[in-house]
Amino acid sequence: MGGRQLKHSDAIVIVGAGAFGLSTALHLALRGYRNVTVLDKHEYDNSGYDYRSGADSASSDMNKIIRSAYGSQVEYQDLSKEAIEWWTAWNREIKAGKDLAPGLSTNDRVYINNGTLCFTDQLELAPFEVETIRNMKAAGLGETQLVTMNPEDNASAQRRGLGYAMDPFRRRARNKPNVGVLDTTGGVVVADKACRFALHKARRLGVKFIFHPQAGAFESYWHDEQGNVVGVKTQSGEKHPAKKVVMACGGWTPTLVPELDGLCETTAGSVIMLQIPPNSHLRERFAPDKFPSWMWKLWDGAEGGLYGFPVDDRGMMKIGYRGTKYTNPQLQQDGKLRSVPITRYTPGDKVTQLPRKSMQIFKHFLNEYLPELAENGIDIELTRLCWYTDSFDNHYVVDDLPGQNTVMVATGGCGHAFKYLPILGKWVVDIMEGVEMDRTLVKKWAWRSLPEGEKPFNVLMQGNDSPNAFKNVSWTKDSDLKLGSQPKL
Ligand SMILES: Cc1cc2nc3c(=O)[nH]c(=O)nc-3n(C[C@H](O)[C@H](O)[C@H](O)COP(=O)(O)OP(=O)(O)OC[C@H]3O[C@@H](n4cnc5c(N)ncnc54)[C@H](O)[C@@H]3O)c2cc1C
Repeated sequence: MGGRQLKHSDAIVIVGAGAFGLSTALHLALRGYRNVTVLDKHEYDNSGYDYRSGADSASSDMNKIIRSAYGSQVEYQDLSKEAIEWWTAWNREIKAGKDLAPGLSTNDRVYINNGTLCFTDQLELAPFEVETIRNMKAAGLGETQLVTMNPEDNASAQRRGLGYAMDPFRRRARNKPNVGVLDTTGGVVVADKACRFALHKARRLGVKFIFHPQAGAFESYWHDEQGNVVGVKTQSGEKHPAKKVVMACGGWTPTLVPELDGLCETTAGSVIMLQIPPNSHLRERFAPDKFPSWMWKLWDGAEGGLYGFPVDDRGMMKIGYRGTKYTNPQLQQDGKLRSVPITRYTPGDKVTQLPRKSMQIFKHFLNEYLPELAENGIDIELTRLCWYTDSFDNHYVVDDLPGQNTVMVATGGCGHAFKYLPILGKWVVDIMEGVEMDRTLVKKWAWRSLPEGEKPFNVLMQGNDSPNAFKNVSWTKDSDLKLGSQPKL
């Protein structure tokens, strides 16, 4: 770990321009590295990291949740504090309007501090929320967490202009329990715009980006006669010399770096998007200054794990389900089965539907918590499978491959790394340079294997034996997109 000393003139190649790759490129440039190239097989200058324009990486999205609420994981709580300072500074830069990224205007924000509500269908707070309150208090930030059942906290939310976020599903008016905690530091990060902002910043600092389905696509490492990695080869046949190669390919990393077997696997989360018409009163009802981001029964297995957002600036509302994570095991050249991302934009075979189980959970939730959508004739406009890179312990992986110091991975986002886009790379570059290696997160993100007898947080690599492997899953039809209908299991 830490590896050999790099000179600022040394060539560094980053494969993948998602949150990990972009942020690493940006922080390398900020620290004075002058020869940084980022390769990506996707043409982000055309799609602008917009899913609807064909971008299918995890980072290419309309929005992501940002929160400091992390239960007992105080290291991530602290990381959120640092990230929020950066997000706030990025908002200020955009507002100032100096050298704006393409497609951004001074009215844009990449971080919307409209609160994140963690709530449940139970009558008591879940242990995760109780832990969050305790640890935020211990950090002197107790007043940032507001309990929905507590009248004083409701009054405090009103005073801070966040009253709407304490009962966004209008539970009290419907005489239903409303049990949750509002993380007032949280809200929405506007993912596609944030990626474009980071890309533009990195380019301005001299980072070279090659976005092309062949010229930007990693094919293999380039070895010298002794078998040492001295760069990468792309699918177009070009060679890029490198003293350091950073593999940051999101859900594609485990197949490109098979050494990650047992440590990381790519799994799919389910997403629905509902288009609210411009003339509907629901645009106002679900606007970001009237509706928070939210997480429902996040740690309750397959029957929970939903999260959602206010409408975006195109009137689209997104809801995600991570309670069941699906895999697509495919036989690899080395004879092993590994899960491989497949989306509606994958060349060749595509997936345009969702597993029925996911749709059933979405509809149950919408029926109970957002009935006004169906009442106003709004159906699901678009669905998506979005590919996580899970590690067995839900921590990221930022380290050299074992036994050498040229190839490093920066991956394992596990569904919670986007909020750290502005600072992920700072940590990656620290690890590359061997700076403060005794920090808790640096150690957690090191190369590792599951200790014998320990239960993993995420069970990985069950192949086709998993009930959630694609071949064991039944799929929705277009008719299931209507909110009135319920898919049969
Ligand atoms: C459904 C879902 C919801 C999420 N919600 C949240 C949230 O609310 N908050 C939060 O903080 N995080 C969230 N996350 C997690 C977050 O999105 C990820 O941790 C983060 O975006 C991962 O970034 P990445 O750079 O690792 O991967 P990606 O964004 O997937 O980027 C990988 C890049 O590698 C490129 N690539 C792949 N193969 C090659 C190749 N051979 N050659 C060249 N390039 C290649 C791809 O084109 C892609 O651009 C969510 C994730 C998912 C899936």
